Amino acid sequence: MDYQELLLSVRLLPQVDQTKLLNELMGTSQEEYLSVRKEQLFNKQVGCPHCTSKSYYKFGTDKGCQRFKCKGCMRTFTEFTGTWIDGLHKKSQVTEYIDLMIEGKSLDKISAQMGINKKTALDWRHKILSALEQDSGDKMEGVVESDETFFEESQKGSHTMTREARKRGKSSKDMKTRGISSNKAAVIVTADRKGNLNMCVATTGRISKEDIFRSIEKPLPQDAILCTDGHVSYKGYAMDNKLKHIALRGDLKQYVKHGVYHIQNINNIHGRLKKWIDNQFWGVSTKYLQNYLGWFRINEKLKGSVNQKKELITASLQNTDALKRFHYIDVSYQWLLATQ
Ligand SMILES: [Zn+2]
Repeated sequence: MDYQELLLSVRLLPQVDQTKLLNELMGTSQEEYLSVRKEQLFNKQVGCPHCTSKSYYKFGTDKGCQRFKCKGCMRTFTEFTGTWIDGLHKKSQVTEYIDLMIEGKSLDKISAQMGINKKTALDWRHKILSALEQDSGDKMEGVVESDETFFEESQKGSHTMTREARKRGKSSKDMKTRGISSNKAAVIVTADRKGNLNMCVATTGRISKEDIFRSIEKPLPQDAILCTDGHVSYKGYAMDNKLKHIALRGDLKQYVKHGVYHIQNINNIHGRLKKWIDNQFWGVSTKYLQNYLGWFRINEKLKGSVNQKKELITASLQNTDALKRFHYIDVSYQWLLATQ
């Protein structure tokens, strides 16, 4: 194929793919991808990871990373302090890992291709996922749908990843039953119609008003209109927040009211989430479920993005609590089990 033919073929690609190709050819380096946080610190766009003060100054380097000293708390930190990359010995492999993650490669394939052991591949996955945030309630606007769905409690992979464990972790389908069994994890999903999405492993068993408060994090704005299936906990939540609440009761065949009020987007998300977890991972351990919800959410956000790698790295580096969250996965899981 000569140049003219190649050019012609490229022009036939959709615009999104042309831009992707361009990024590929420009060859953004590993350093450029990882320097996003350093740039933000240089420009004082983010605060000290210890105390959030923006009074800090450059203070040498530490193992090749830029170091800063904070005038607020007098402590030092680097561009990576608290982020999931903090303390990694193989920083040079981060972008390759992210590429494989975006491609949906299994941990086995990733560890074989990168020459790292499976435990490292698993740890990196959950360090990255521990950095991903959810949209809190105050970001939502207009019609907001909220409803819970259930996942059977699973301890997949807690010791060794055997076939049997996979079987146990599988099949999260058709479990839209209301909190009868306490060995199901309830996931509350809340979304507006602008793409803001919050997904939270709230409790095991029946959900309460307090679970809804905790999962949405910050109260929905006063002019939001909350659509739910009319569960008493949602009624209580709406009343406490003085929100307009539309109950769509499936048992009374109330699927849509006034043409716009329904919870079909949420039901659609529930369906896609379960399919993704069943088909992509053959079920996941309840311990890691919150992390997978973060992954699902960012996938939704990055749909159609021309540089998913850059956006995923940028999003993951914003969270200076990521490493802490990663180390608390077991503690959070014990807490969840205690809600039974
Ligand atoms: Zn500080």
